[in-house]
Amino acid sequence: QGRPPRPRIAAAIRVVPDFPKPGIMFQDITTLLLDPEAFKTLSTCSLSVTLTWTSRWSQVRIEARGFIFGPPIALAIGAKFVPLRKPKKLPGEVISENYDLEYGSDCLQMHVGAVQPGERVLIVDDLVATGGTLRAAISLLERVGAEVVECACVIELPELKGRERLDGKPLYILVESH
Ligand code: AMP
Repeated sequence: QGRPPRPRIAAAIRVVPDFPKPGIMFQDITTLLLDPEAFKTLSTCSLSVTLTWTSRWSQVRIEARGFIFGPPIALAIGAKFVPLRKPKKLPGEVISENYDLEYGSDCLQMHVGAVQPGERVLIVDDLVATGGTLRAAISLLERVGAEVVECACVIELPELKGRERLDGKPLYILVESH
């Protein structure tokens, strides 16, 4: 109570050392979701930034934790919501992009036709580490002719310099974790 918004959000995120493998400081946003005021603050902060863009938006969210932060913003601005998912989750025809993670490698898929050429897109995830995931999302969207206007994450691990892999796209974050 009474804390300014960003420190309140930062304090609500639990850091779990050595998960899912030794050396990783896992940023656990489930504890943020246990604090409705902090979650509301986060949605409000994200919304105030998103609303500075006035043109027509698509929103693209990345699997699982990326989905949690999307709906409040998408509903508030009347934007479409497009999930990017791990393989074998989407039932229709998909376009795929492989990428490297801080721990391992993976693949993102999107339904063909979900985003039209020329659509302006905001990409959102919970966290940027090496930037491989956002980089893959940008590539996927550009392959279908979308214009990626901005990426937004709750947390950045600045030491990993993920920001430098985003091809000059603006990256909006709420909390840095060291
Ligand atoms: P990267 O592609 O390296 O930027 O990794 C970002 C993705 O991996 C995000 O979708 C995160 O959910 C997840 N991730 C990577 N590192 C961490 C971490 N230290 N704590 C929590 N999630 C992480």
